[in-house]
Amino acid sequence: MTGSGGIRVTFWGVRGSTPCAGHQYARYGGNSSCVVLEVDGEAPIVFDLGTGLRPYGEALGGAAHPYRATMLLTHLHWDHVQGLPFFTPLQHPDSLVDIYGPTQADAELGVVFSGMMQPPYFPITHEQLAGDIRWHGIVDDDFPAGNAKIRARSVRHVGATLGYRVEWNGAIVVYISDHGQGCGAPDCDDFVPPDVLELCDGADLVIHDAQHTVDEFEAKRAWGHCTNEYALLVAQSARARTLALFHHCPSHSDDKIDEMLRSTQELSARVNGPRIIAAAEGTVLTIGA
Ligand SMILES: [Zn+2]
Ligand SMILES: [Zn+2]
Repeated sequence: MTGSGGIRVTFWGVRGSTPCAGHQYARYGGNSSCVVLEVDGEAPIVFDLGTGLRPYGEALGGAAHPYRATMLLTHLHWDHVQGLPFFTPLQHPDSLVDIYGPTQADAELGVVFSGMMQPPYFPITHEQLAGDIRWHGIVDDDFPAGNAKIRARSVRHVGATLGYRVEWNGAIVVYISDHGQGCGAPDCDDFVPPDVLELCDGADLVIHDAQHTVDEFEAKRAWGHCTNEYALLVAQSARARTLALFHHCPSHSDDKIDEMLRSTQELSARVNGPRIIAAAEGTVLTIGA
């Protein structure tokens, strides 16, 4: 499918803050952040380890032997890490994953992660998984993964958080799951930081935080997320081709997300902006082919 160029992008979890279940989430899905990039013949690249990682592991089944992947973690909030203990490929001793994430102030990334995955919070530690995990604390770094070029840059959120740009097989996919607009002075709501523009510049697909409507935003400004309109401003300013609204609020039903999608599409059409989609669990896109 991707042999002629491009990246296959699968959305396994699109929800922010907490996973959620119910008929009102049937179309967009309730699993938390996890997106998988694939190019034929190469190890996959996984954005975030939210609860969407669990169904991804189950879908791999026996095809995961021996499993190798590069995993790009934006930050350590629950909605971005809770899938790791349930990722079945790591139950096999021949599995090996490299997990990159933001350098932590007090200890190495893997040590800090261990604070969450150990008794009494969880029955086993990540060291007790059969497969191997190599942890890499990074800041604003550029590095390769196979034939992919990866760029990580800090973005405004609550605590150390990264966004990622992946250039691979002739396509560019950017992932900024959690991004707070105007988080601190002297930023204002129509300011896009240079690092964010650098990540998104000319991308084929930008997957971006769109947790709040404009009406909801003021009361939640300190939460470190942004509006659908700010996500459009980012993608438009960077001349991205497609914007995927992502990190949907767990209080937003499918119908509410439809409404946000329509209003963002209308706004983008007025400013000659990018194509707008709303990320939905189970959607597979081929980007840049
Ligand atoms: Zn989040
Ligand atoms: Zn977060």
